[in-house]
Amino acid sequence: FVEVREGLARILVPKAERIYDAPVFYNPVMALNRDVSVLAVKIIQPGKALDALSATGIRGIRYALETPTGEVWLNDISEEAFKLILRNVELNLGVEGKPVGEKRVAFEGEKRIVANLDDANRLMAENFRYFDFLDLDPFGSPVEFLDTALRSVKRRGVLAVTATDTGVLCGAYRNACLRKYLAEPIRGDLCHEAGLRILIGTVVRYAAKYDLGVDVLLAYYRDHYFRAFLRLKSGAKKADKSLSQLGYLWQDENGRFEYAEGFLPERPKAHGPLWLGPLKDGEFVERLVEAAREHPLAHRKTLPFVELLNEELDVPFLYDTHALARRNGLQARKLSDMIEILEGKGYKATRTHFSPKAIKTDAPIEKVLEALRVLQ
Ligand code: SAM
Repeated sequence: FVEVREGLARILVPKAERIYDAPVFYNPVMALNRDVSVLAVKIIQPGKALDALSATGIRGIRYALETPTGEVWLNDISEEAFKLILRNVELNLGVEGKPVGEKRVAFEGEKRIVANLDDANRLMAENFRYFDFLDLDPFGSPVEFLDTALRSVKRRGVLAVTATDTGVLCGAYRNACLRKYLAEPIRGDLCHEAGLRILIGTVVRYAAKYDLGVDVLLAYYRDHYFRAFLRLKSGAKKADKSLSQLGYLWQDENGRFEYAEGFLPERPKAHGPLWLGPLKDGEFVERLVEAAREHPLAHRKTLPFVELLNEELDVPFLYDTHALARRNGLQARKLSDMIEILEGKGYKATRTHFSPKAIKTDAPIEKVLEALRVLQ
């Protein structure tokens, strides 16, 4: 093992040539994901949090050390991971754990930490409406954990999901997307945003059957994964409202896109169903940025990234200026110049975290093309 530091935590991680060869998984690139999560948890202030797929325990340990959460549960199905979690909790909390049953150890320090060895689905099924914050950070898709997670989190709690199966959600494996998400993905310049919206749309559909609505606190794409923080709302009407924000996307050969809310696609070649509602709660992200300015972050890109998220115009879909220029026989131009022209015409336009080549705007495609032409 080697000891690494991340945020306020010290973590033993297995030595390995490549991260996927290690007996217990630790990816330093995901420090940004964990930074954003720590900031989010700091703002949400849950009483009880579950890191359902913990690996080394780093995520849950950071929640315990860096947020006000009083009780944090760490779980993994792998015995090796569980053993490492025990060592890492001891290392960070400075107290010894006491066995509570065969596969569970509780640490009572300033915070209560419970380390558990089990299938996450079984643990969540056994802890009905127990957690205020529940984190799913799996290899690949979170869908196999969604049902139990939605029953284990409180009805006004927050569910955080990571999905690393971007190839599936972005249309490289269409059938896998149909199987796992029951949605038609799209390839090309809109694939990342559409993939994120398919993921959220799926959670909305799963939640609706429990009469739960969903508010998106923040959802983003980064480093080949998707991440969403979803605040649940209790009630059939809330569920209906969230479902009504699902719909479909169409894109033609010229790059022009259209989207429409609705339960069934109103015409052929539709992509979805996908979430067409907001990807952030403005006040939440504002507070996230404030917290990021004060917090000892592990990743040097976390602050600029959350600032970018905060400034981004929250409208469905984007214009990839390179793709648009190519399709129309034009040269791509600087985003800042495009934004200035569109703003000069009274439209809103910003950069987007989805792509360094794209803008988000409320201007129609003709105006975006006009701006490109002016700059040729
Ligand atoms: N959250 C960790 C972090 O931030 O470093 C990374 C988690 S890793 C991507 C996924 C973990 O889920 C692995 O350690 C794996 O052993 C565990 N896992 C896979 N299937 C599981 C299941 N059904 N129940 C519990 N843990 C599971």
